[in-house]
Amino acid sequence: MSKVLILGAGISGHTAALTVRRKLGKSHEIVVVSPNSNYQWVPSNIWVGIGLMTTKQVIFPLAPVYKKQGITFKQAKALSIHPEGDAQTGKAYVNIEYVSGSNKGTIEKVDYDYLINATGPKLNFAATEGLGPDKNSLSVCTYDHAAHTWENLQQHFARMEKGEKQTFLVGTGNPMATCQGAAFEYALNIAFEVNRRKLNKFAEIIWISNEYELGDFGMGGAYINQGGYTTPTKIFAESVFKEYGISWIVGAGITKVEPGIAYYENLAGEFHTVKFDFSMLIPAFAGVGLKAYDKNAQEITAQLFAPNGLMKVDADYTPKDYEDWKASDWPSIYQNPSYANIYAAGIAFAPPHTISKPMFSKNGTQITATAPRTGMPSGVMGRIVAENIVEQIRTGTNTHKHRASMSKMGAACIISAGYGIRQGKAAVMTVFPIVQDWDKFPKWGRNINYTVGEIGLAGHWMKLFMHYMFIYKAKALPFWWMIPE
Ligand SMILES: Cc1cc2nc3c(=O)[nH]c(=O)nc-3n(C[C@H](O)[C@H](O)[C@H](O)COP(=O)(O)OP(=O)(O)OC[C@H]3O[C@@H](n4cnc5c(N)ncnc54)[C@H](O)[C@@H]3O)c2cc1C
Repeated sequence: MSKVLILGAGISGHTAALTVRRKLGKSHEIVVVSPNSNYQWVPSNIWVGIGLMTTKQVIFPLAPVYKKQGITFKQAKALSIHPEGDAQTGKAYVNIEYVSGSNKGTIEKVDYDYLINATGPKLNFAATEGLGPDKNSLSVCTYDHAAHTWENLQQHFARMEKGEKQTFLVGTGNPMATCQGAAFEYALNIAFEVNRRKLNKFAEIIWISNEYELGDFGMGGAYINQGGYTTPTKIFAESVFKEYGISWIVGAGITKVEPGIAYYENLAGEFHTVKFDFSMLIPAFAGVGLKAYDKNAQEITAQLFAPNGLMKVDADYTPKDYEDWKASDWPSIYQNPSYANIYAAGIAFAPPHTISKPMFSKNGTQITATAPRTGMPSGVMGRIVAENIVEQIRTGTNTHKHRASMSKMGAACIISAGYGIRQGKAAVMTVFPIVQDWDKFPKWGRNINYTVGEIGLAGHWMKLFMHYMFIYKAKALPFWWMIPE
């Protein structure tokens, strides 16, 4: 009998847990540790943040799903990994701390044969002074944040209805933030709602981001097939913003947020401020702060994790110049190089470098959109890690038949640009591969035949359909596994 321990029940960890369960007999034990009692379909938080969905529509409790599947669920947070166990037992374990119920605060050792770290990001608001929903800006990164943001947004709509002018600032809140796509969606949804409420003349909507140019999205931009033309995402994003009446500031690293004012440095090395009445700014991401210890209780965190707290896997982390980056730098099996029975899937793995070219201001501050960490690859990684572990348990070998490098995998992103069965809109973008492979695709870095972008009502229907489809899948309802990630 083997024991598989999964840390995190988000898109990656939950996919991994359900996959291991489906493929392994009940004699094997599966344990999921996650501090949140709910599963959340994060992409739909955008709609919670604009008041078009309630939090209840984007979450469901995990415990009944795991009970039905025969998976042990511990509502706790992982604190530390002990891959060699301790001097007495030599059995690998993770220290967890319960976060609710009668055992709240209790620390427990959970041993494992295989460990999947799928703890996602720490939303690192603290990396920017004054940033975050507890301070001077809002967020849609969790369903609680999104609900709070919607409460706030309504007050600004009410002010505009009374004839007051309002400035909305949306984008990234740190020079090294990622997730531009989510912020982009939120900006478009605000613009759409402002327009639907006929409040345009009272609203100024400003996009601010660390991207080198609009449409970079942390993936070095892309060339997409659109309406028969090959168009850079810069032009695509600019034309969408023009249509929606959104102005933009790019190459901007926000360093401080005070009530109603954001401070930023730009790539020219200038320091500016921008005033706002409402701001939704995405923080930098980091690892969740797991520690690691060897059997003598010596700390080995730096051996398992990169300095940003994300876990090292089978990537090439050798420091290289941008010109020397290769598609092969990116990991494909997500196995920790020090301990073969530890894997990191989804946002929890440390990328070898950014995808976009690193950019520095004239003062030497790095202002770079970091690699996008989207749902589809996170789900795929969770699945293939689970499939490889199942294969290893079955065969007793360290095989990895299943691979999913971001430089060999495509991704589809549907950017909501307005809600409604008849008037809704979304921009559908597919890129292949996510990380450019200049050796294989010397002209565009990607396969232009599979890298497309279109905007329209059909995209909205697809986004809405995907919301229900992925929640169905996550609930492990009949034939859930036939739905791709
Ligand atoms: C607003 C928003 C909109 C987005 N829209 C899209 C979109 O349209 N399309 C798309 O592809 N992607 C989108 N994304 C990105 C997508 O949500 C992420 O790629 C995805 O959630 C990553 O999955 P994950 O499992 O790695 O992390 P998460 O989904 O964040 O899951 C991490 C899990 O780990 C748990 N955890 C945290 N700390 C610990 C700990 N110490 N111990 C144990 N468990 C822990 C958490 O509770 C959670 O269950 C969006 C992101 C945001 C914020």
